Order: sequence, then C-alpha cells, then structure tokens
Amino acid sequence: MNKTELKENWKNILQNLYSSMESLPVNIFFSPLEPVKLSEKELKIYFTPPKGGSSSFYQKRIENYQKELSSACESVLGKVYSMEVVDSAPVDTEDSPVPEDPSFGFNPRYTFDSFVQGPNNQLALAACLAIADKGFVREYNPLFIYSGAGLGKTHLMHAVGQYVIKKYPKKRVMYVSSEAFTNELVKSLQEKRQEDFRNKYRKVDLLLFDDVQFISGKQATQEELFHTFESLYNFRKQIIFTSDKPPKDLDGIPERLQSRFGWGMPVDIQAPDYETRLAILKNLAILSGVSITEEVNEMLQVISQNIITNIRDLEGAWNRVHGMSKLQNVQMSPSMAKKVLTDIFDTKKSTLTPQSIKKCVAKYFGYKSSDLESKKRNQSISFPRQIAIYLIRENTNSSYPQIGEMFGGRNHSTILHSYNNISKAVLKDENLRNTIDNIMEILQNS
Ligand code: ADP
Ligand code: MG
Repeated sequence: MNKTELKENWKNILQNLYSSMESLPVNIFFSPLEPVKLSEKELKIYFTPPKGGSSSFYQKRIENYQKELSSACESVLGKVYSMEVVDSAPVDTEDSPVPEDPSFGFNPRYTFDSFVQGPNNQLALAACLAIADKGFVREYNPLFIYSGAGLGKTHLMHAVGQYVIKKYPKKRVMYVSSEAFTNELVKSLQEKRQEDFRNKYRKVDLLLFDDVQFISGKQATQEELFHTFESLYNFRKQIIFTSDKPPKDLDGIPERLQSRFGWGMPVDIQAPDYETRLAILKNLAILSGVSITEEVNEMLQVISQNIITNIRDLEGAWNRVHGMSKLQNVQMSPSMAKKVLTDIFDTKKSTLTPQSIKKCVAKYFGYKSSDLESKKRNQSISFPRQIAIYLIRENTNSSYPQIGEMFGGRNHSTILHSYNNISKAVLKDENLRNTIDNIMEILQNS
C-alpha cells in the first residue's frame, strides 16, 4: 500500500472511529498522527507523532483505545493491524510492493461478494460484472458511473479491479482518484518526469478513474486526461469513470472530454430502497458475526426506515450500534438503536415540520392540506391522511393528541390507530414502502 492510499485508509478509519466513540479523543489523539507505513508482514501500521509531539504519549493513547481502533481498522481494511507510533518512519526492508504492483491500493472489503444488489444499482453492477469477467467490453467503454455520495461507486470500482487482477494476472490495472492524478501530474512536471507519468497511465489495460468531477477547472489535468483517454481508447483498453453527475452536467470540463465520457455507457446508481437498505444492514451484521435474532432484525428495520439517503450513513449507524453493544455489553434492539442514534434520527426530525409533511403528502396524492384535515372518510382520502399521520409521528416530535389537533381535532386514539395501521402495513406492503420512500425523498430534497 503506498502512502497516499495509506493516508486515505487512515482517514476512513478516523471517520469510522467518529461513529463508534466520542469525537474529542479522536480529534486530539488520533487525527494528528501521520501514518507512514503499513507492514503486511508484521501486520502493523506505523505512525509518526505531530511536530513537537512525543511518540510515547500517543502510543499510550492508542493502547487506551485498542478496542475501538481495532474494530475501526477491521471494518476499513478487512483485518486488524496493530498500531505503533515511532519517531521516524521505519526503513523499508521487507519485500513491499513495488509501485507498479497492480494490486496495491484496493480495499479488500470492496468486492462483488460484499456488494448488495438492488434495483437502484442493478445496471451499474451488471456493467461492472461484465467488464470484470471479460476484461474489456467495447459497448461499455468507457463505463461512466454517476451517483450521489456514499452509494457504492468506489466500492464497485475496487471490486472490478480486484476481480480483474485475479482473473487476468497479466493485465495492468490502475486505480486513481482525480486528486491523486492531479497531484502526481504536478509532481511529475516539477521533477521533469512527465514521460514516466505518461507511461504509467497510458500503458494500462484497465484504468479506474474515481470522482472525475474534481478535474473541473483544472486545465493541465484535463489536457493530460484527454490524451490518456485517447491513447487507451484507441488501443481498446477499458476505462471506468465515476462522478457525482452525468457527463453533460459536468461544468468546467471541456466539451471534448464530456462527450467522450458519454461514448460508452453512462449508468447511475440511485438511493437504495427499503429492502436494499435492510439487506445491506443484514449483510453488515452477518459480516460482523452477529446473528440475526428477532430483536436484531427489528432494529435493522428501524434503522432502514430512518436512514434513507446513503449507504455510508447506514454503515455509520451500524458501526455505532454494534460498537456500543460490544462496549457496554448490551443486546441490540430497536429501543437501544433509537437511543444510540438519537442525534441522527433527530437532526432529520428537526428539518421536517408537520405542516411540510402534510402538504407534501396531500400534494403527492393530488389533494390540498385542508382535504386531509376534513371529516371526509372515504378510502381515497383516508389513506393519504393515515400516511401523513404516520410520517408526522415518525419524523417530528409531535404527540398523538397534538397530531389530532392538526387533523381537524381528531381524537388521539384515532391517530394512534392510523399510525399503527400504517406502521404494520409498511412491513408487508412493498408498494406502500415505495410510496413512503418517494414522499420522504421529495421532503428531504425540498
Ligand atoms: P461512493 O464512492 O459512491 O461515494 P462508496 O463506494 O465509498 O460510495 O460506498 C460507501 C460505503 O457504502 C462503502 O463502505 C461501501 O462498501 C458501502 N456500500 C455502498 N453500496 C453498497 C452495496 N450495494 N452493498 C454493500 N455495501 C455498499
Ligand atoms: Mg467514492
């Protein structure tokens, strides 16, 4: 693993720690450490202290938080490394991978096996599997995957890379993020080694270029990427890009690159639906060696209902509840999760108001808010009314009597009944879940 990747992984470990422990010690003890070397032989990561800091001071802190660090390390790197703070970076004596080693830099966790398929990512996954299997698919060249953050783009890229290296050991595979590409280019210019830089990227069989949106406004990078693209494309080498938007929406990137991004197949990954979220959580639980009892299952349902936008947040939530249950030796359950995750569940609550929910639900079904408040009781209006009641109860701190007031002075037991109706139905009825997901998505984006 080279230094940039080590740093990237360390950043992820820190991110993970934030979700499993207080942020203060992470900020003051761990975040200032500089990761300098990862030794596969010793299963150890070496750090140097920040300027003026003493290595033994930081070493002690690492020992104090052994448990949290190990579990964060395992969830990012797939296994536990011990950590040692040293005064200067140890000299490389072991047969560490040479920089061209095609396998370096991939996160062992990011494989096809651990990627949960759903309607939201089906196309992207199918394209990646085809490329991984054949090494090159003309119709998919370049494959351009776009989505919001935390929806699995990097995961898929690493999965393709690792698969191809195994299946075709002779193929040269290169994974690079926009930033790393830019930094390396700048460095090669400064050191007058541009030729090496070009050889490195123009002689690969598979180029995985992550987060291409960040080349926006960077002319030298764009120029270099353009020529890299031309060279690889003409020699029928496979390229995969990821981005946060489709090619045509990439501002600050010249037309000739934009159009090339669209030559093969642009596919998007959508936010996961309820089933996919639940499947991902179950998968995480199984990978952590937790058996899915009824309590755990119910808890995972609660988390899936509440965290709807991205998978990184789902993972963060899982790490927190799982970490807490191990740390305090308590069973995981819906109420435990609600306690541990109050801040996540509540920030969401604070942004939604009963009025906005009522209005959104009414509009979704083609009514006005006042229709939902009325005494009308035909099925076509009472169904949206019950959904509005359910969503208000789930997403705001309103009590049943308060909600009754909002719906034309209805009795609190009527409200409770409506709430129970929907919360039961939601577990069984896929259409209803989709409806609720759609409404929540509209609400959260408005
Ligand atoms: P992006 O690159 O789109 O921002 P990542 O690939 O970094 O997102 O994914 C964020 C996290 O969510 C990663 O830990 C990844 O393993 C996980 N993840 C994303 N999609 C899936 C999926 N379909 N199945 C399992 N894990 C997933
Ligand atoms: Mg990414």
